[in-house]
Amino acid sequence: MIIDVHAHIGVDVVFDEELTEEQLIEAYNKYGIDGGIVQPYLPRIYMEDHMDIHDRIFQLTKNKEKKFWGMASINPHFRPEDYDKEAKRCINELGFVAIKITPIGHATHPSSKDAFHVWEVCRELSVPLMIHTGAGIPFSDPISVEKALESFPDVTCVLAHAGSEMHNQQATYLARKFENVFLEPSWVGVLGVMNMIKQIGCEKILFSSDNIYNIPVELAKYKSLISNQDNLEKVLYKNAVKIFNLK
Ligand SMILES: [Zn+2]
Repeated sequence: MIIDVHAHIGVDVVFDEELTEEQLIEAYNKYGIDGGIVQPYLPRIYMEDHMDIHDRIFQLTKNKEKKFWGMASINPHFRPEDYDKEAKRCINELGFVAIKITPIGHATHPSSKDAFHVWEVCRELSVPLMIHTGAGIPFSDPISVEKALESFPDVTCVLAHAGSEMHNQQATYLARKFENVFLEPSWVGVLGVMNMIKQIGCEKILFSSDNIYNIPVELAKYKSLISNQDNLEKVLYKNAVKIFNLK
C-alpha cells in the first residue's frame, strides 16, 4: 500500500501549474500508488473559486478506482467568518481530513495573526495543519512555524517539503523538538532525508509526491534509504493513516 499525502489538482495562478483528476489517476496507476490526500492548486483569490476546487476534490474522493481524501486550502486573509464557513464546510460536510497554509502563495507568515486563526480552526475541527516550507524564504523557513507551535502543542502539524533541500535542518530540528510535528520531505535530496531518519526515525516521515513527475523520484529515495520493511511501510502509508485519521 502506498498513500501520497500531498497531491494537487486544478489550476495554480501562483506557480503556473495545472493538473486534472485524470492525469493524477493515470500517474497513480503507472507508479502503483493506491491513493492520496488531494489539495487545490492555488486558485484566484475569490471564495467561489476556492469552493469550486474544493467541490472538484470532493467529487474525486468518490472515485472507486483509487482512495482519495481532501485537504482544504483557503487564503487565510479572507474575513475570519468567511474562512470559518468554508473550512467547516470542507471538514464537516465534504469530509476533508486537513487544512493547508502555503506561506508564499497565501502571503501568510505561519505565525502571523491570520495564520493563528487557521491554527485555532484546526484545533476546533481536530484536523492536522499542513504548512508549505522551503521555497519562499523567510515566510517559508520552517523556523517561522516555531512561535505558533509553542501555542498549539495539540494541533498536529505536517511540514510540507520539510524545508526542501536548503532548509531541512530547521524542519528536522522542529520535528525533534515538538511531538506534534511531522515531516513530508518531497524535493529533499537523499542525504537530507537520511539525516531526518537518523534524527527522528521513520515514525515522523510521510511519503508524498507534490507533483506526478516526482512520484518515481520520491519512491526511489525511500527504497534506497530504508531496508527494514516495517519502517518502509510506516513512511509509505502507515504514518499517514494514523496522522490524518484516514478511514
Ligand atoms: Zn504542493
